[in-house]
Amino acid sequence: MNPQHNEIPESGITEGGTKGAFRDVLAKDHARRGKPPVHLVDMDKDQRIERAAALGLPKFRVNQLANHYFSHFDVDAEGFSDFPASMRHEAAQNFFPTLIEEVTRQVADEGTTVKTLWKLFDGARIESVLMRYPTRTTLCISSQVGCGMGCPFCATGQLGLTRNMSTGEILEQVRVAAKAMRDGEVAGGPGRLSNVVFMGMGEPMGNYRSVMSAVRQISSLPPEGFGISARNITVSTVGVVPGIKKLTAEGIPVRLAVSLHAPSDELRDELVPMNKRFNTTQVLDAAHDYYLASKKRVSIEYALMRDINDQAEHARLLAKRLNHYGDDWAHVNPIPLNPIEGSRWTASKPEDEQQFLDILHRAGITATLRDTRGQDIDGACGQLAAKAKTLS
Ligand code: SF4
Repeated sequence: MNPQHNEIPESGITEGGTKGAFRDVLAKDHARRGKPPVHLVDMDKDQRIERAAALGLPKFRVNQLANHYFSHFDVDAEGFSDFPASMRHEAAQNFFPTLIEEVTRQVADEGTTVKTLWKLFDGARIESVLMRYPTRTTLCISSQVGCGMGCPFCATGQLGLTRNMSTGEILEQVRVAAKAMRDGEVAGGPGRLSNVVFMGMGEPMGNYRSVMSAVRQISSLPPEGFGISARNITVSTVGVVPGIKKLTAEGIPVRLAVSLHAPSDELRDELVPMNKRFNTTQVLDAAHDYYLASKKRVSIEYALMRDINDQAEHARLLAKRLNHYGDDWAHVNPIPLNPIEGSRWTASKPEDEQQFLDILHRAGITATLRDTRGQDIDGACGQLAAKAKTLS
């Protein structure tokens, strides 16, 4: 943790401009809710050592705790046999407070998709989805409670932003999933969590500091992190350009996913309110700069909505806009929209989806229809909030 950052309050609220300003849409219950308890992963090395010293624990005990957490996914300090019995309770309280509690778990796709609804310390609810494939297992995690970007077709967007999540709250989703995989709790037997995508609830760039601290600790090798390669981590954004630029400067080889959803400003202004702040040219420029710096293809996410953005003219314009920057720098993921019940946004017809893909392919752009795993449990993107809303 950069100590300088401690002085900058990060609310997730985007500064407004003078013209066409965008501000986060706040949830009704957006308020100072206090901070989540501080967890081992919320502290940098010095802070951990300091806290341990205050308990009378020498430095090497901090490494032991980190090793339990990152190598063994274990937070049950009361059972740490390598720890002095008299200190186990103190260690548990000071380093491993309970940050997420399972409320419900839904399983689909013959047990290979698991969606979990979590309750946070203040009663807020967030969700994560684990998806097991033959060659990889991906966890989709949340980084904010709700989302302030206000996209009208998205269930999470309807909630508004309640608050940012702490690094501990973000990483606990990863630890629990990694443990479940190791212990064979997901259909298919014991395995390894290999990929993490920040595509659950929230706009990761709106909670930049905690998200980056989480990224570092997901990708560092144990005992500093879970050892999941940064190349297997995807950070998504709806187009918060300053966030993309900061990420570019970090030089961490994560994959960047940009939710574009429309090829023109006219249409995107309607689908993604943030476009009024950072338009398609600014977003694509920043995304292409990320590609140049990282040499990693950028994913362009595009939720296909019937008769709104899924026609041939949209595909042609999208292809033109992407090809403007050169070949093979972006990969388009058209996503069949999971419609929110009762909304006017609905999924494309299969023939329109196919036509959209064909036009991109003919223009030399790689594009694959994104898998909508978990659709039968509302676990696909843009739908993560539906159940949380009814339960909170
Ligand atoms: S689509 Fe993404 S950015 Fe837009 S409201 Fe939903 S979660 Fe937020």
